Amino acid sequence: MKKILIIHTGGTFGMVPERPKPTLRPSEVEQNIITHVPELAQLAEIEFQVAFNLDSADMAPANWQKLARMIYEDRDRHDGFVIIHGTDSMAYSATALSFMLPNLNKPVILTGSQRPLGEIRTDARMNLVNAVEFATREIPEVCIFFGTRLLRGNRTVKISSTEYGAFTSPNFPPLAEVGVDVHIRGNQLSLRGEPGLLPDVSDQVLALPFFPGLDPAYVACLATTPVRAIVIEALGMGNVAIRQKSLVPMVEALSEAGKLVVITTQCRRGAVDLNRYQNGMMMEKAGAIGARDMTTETTVVKLMHLLGNYGDNMAKVREMLTVPLAGEISDQLSVVSDQ
Ligand code: ASP
Repeated sequence: MKKILIIHTGGTFGMVPERPKPTLRPSEVEQNIITHVPELAQLAEIEFQVAFNLDSADMAPANWQKLARMIYEDRDRHDGFVIIHGTDSMAYSATALSFMLPNLNKPVILTGSQRPLGEIRTDARMNLVNAVEFATREIPEVCIFFGTRLLRGNRTVKISSTEYGAFTSPNFPPLAEVGVDVHIRGNQLSLRGEPGLLPDVSDQVLALPFFPGLDPAYVACLATTPVRAIVIEALGMGNVAIRQKSLVPMVEALSEAGKLVVITTQCRRGAVDLNRYQNGMMMEKAGAIGARDMTTETTVVKLMHLLGNYGDNMAKVREMLTVPLAGEISDQLSVVSDQ
């Protein structure tokens, strides 16, 4: 039987209905899961650890680092890892782990639920059973299992605060789908070397959406702050205003001040292409980089990771931003949607 380590980090999954605060103690969490999901023992030899017990809105890079270290140090003792995690920041944690644990060669499956495990009609039980099952398979990457789909972690976004299908992967097809049968698509990552641990993270990143009427002066003042990378979530293929309240001088000034300006899109599907319209082209000329089909979530976490590890070499950060590190960006602009 495969050996699976389940790591609890908090979230709705383990919360108790009569106590709105996530105050479960570690032993209670473990007991709760064993009582409600005894069939896990049929799937694998399970070990259970509590890393922390947080609402995932309270997760910070130090929590990602703790999880990465736990998994890296344990990699020879277990065949796969399941992380029980709040849904709110699950996409960010999955993305961070995908960069911190290159070439792990073991599945790391994050899951959680919209209703607590102890409640009627909970989605927690099925999500956990499926996550553990996928953790016993040969899937060498960090994934999110939620609802009926296994998604590449660094391609996911949370799209619903209430539906059981809370996550989607707008620009990359699911790795597997679960119905009566399990259908694995075989589009997983191929590994490129030995397992590594790259836990360093910078917090000198800021993201903001563009909207018609945005006053670029509010953004230009970032030139004198410690922030090193600014992600602008633009319209469509990466467009922002270049006539009234043009963002061009502001991007030029930030670039001259040594900041990286990166353009993502507010569109959930499709990619940024700064060469398609004059508005995008002007941003590129001013020094901005298009994030292609990376989600804003992934672009932010990738910048945190790159600045943390190569922050003394901005040319390298710039260059690596559009190179796939863990399947988070497509090689070219042809985008395959999951819808
Ligand atoms: N606020 C919760 C969390 O992210 C929501 C959930 O788990 O679904 O921790």
